[in-house]
Amino acid sequence: MNINPIQLFDTESSTYTYILAAPGEEEAVIIDPVARHLERDLRHLERLGLRLRYVLETHAHADHVTSAGRLRERTGAAAAVPAGCGIAPAELQLRDGDVIRFGTNEEIRVLHTPGHTAGSMSYVWRGNVFTGDTLLIDGCGRTDFQSGSAEALYDSIRDKLFALPDETRVWPGHDYREQAVSTIGWEKRHNARLAGRSREAFVQLMAELHLPKPKMIDVAVPANQNLGLPHGV
Ligand code: FE
Repeated sequence: MNINPIQLFDTESSTYTYILAAPGEEEAVIIDPVARHLERDLRHLERLGLRLRYVLETHAHADHVTSAGRLRERTGAAAAVPAGCGIAPAELQLRDGDVIRFGTNEEIRVLHTPGHTAGSMSYVWRGNVFTGDTLLIDGCGRTDFQSGSAEALYDSIRDKLFALPDETRVWPGHDYREQAVSTIGWEKRHNARLAGRSREAFVQLMAELHLPKPKMIDVAVPANQNLGLPHGV
């Protein structure tokens, strides 16, 4: 059965956080929680009677600080992170093809989708894919810092994400234009950066973006590599 996640938004960084829970289940997983929304996210879990089993990160974010470490302290959840992101204190270092199990029968499939960062992962659950900053709605994550690679991003999207069934719902890590959800089939046909563009043309397009450096990168990345906790904790 297809089930939607609970989608939550941070207006400061335009970040989406997702709570995954199946009907009738008591265990939940959260993806990419944001530090300033710790209490909001805990209230949602409490309201729904959910016990948090895992905190997942799609990558080490440069634009906001995660609440993973504090959520772990408050709920007893384990942190599960991409092995290639340098997030040492997490309990689980995920690799391509891993399966995360929670609840009675829930499975999240781990896809390594490098490009935005070398370690970036996407997560597949019940007809949904959580793409982090690899594939956005009508866009994609930037590839010009933090071990990014436009070539790798193109290959990840074409070979791994666009290989999912067309009806798979796409839940991105950010949105800047008030869009909430898309599908793989729609993005294949209409994504402004990818649809109908060759690998060479995509690499050139990404090289010509000249985006400003993210304001929080020097603070956020080291913090997120420690699950958002102050270093030395
Ligand atoms: Fe990012």
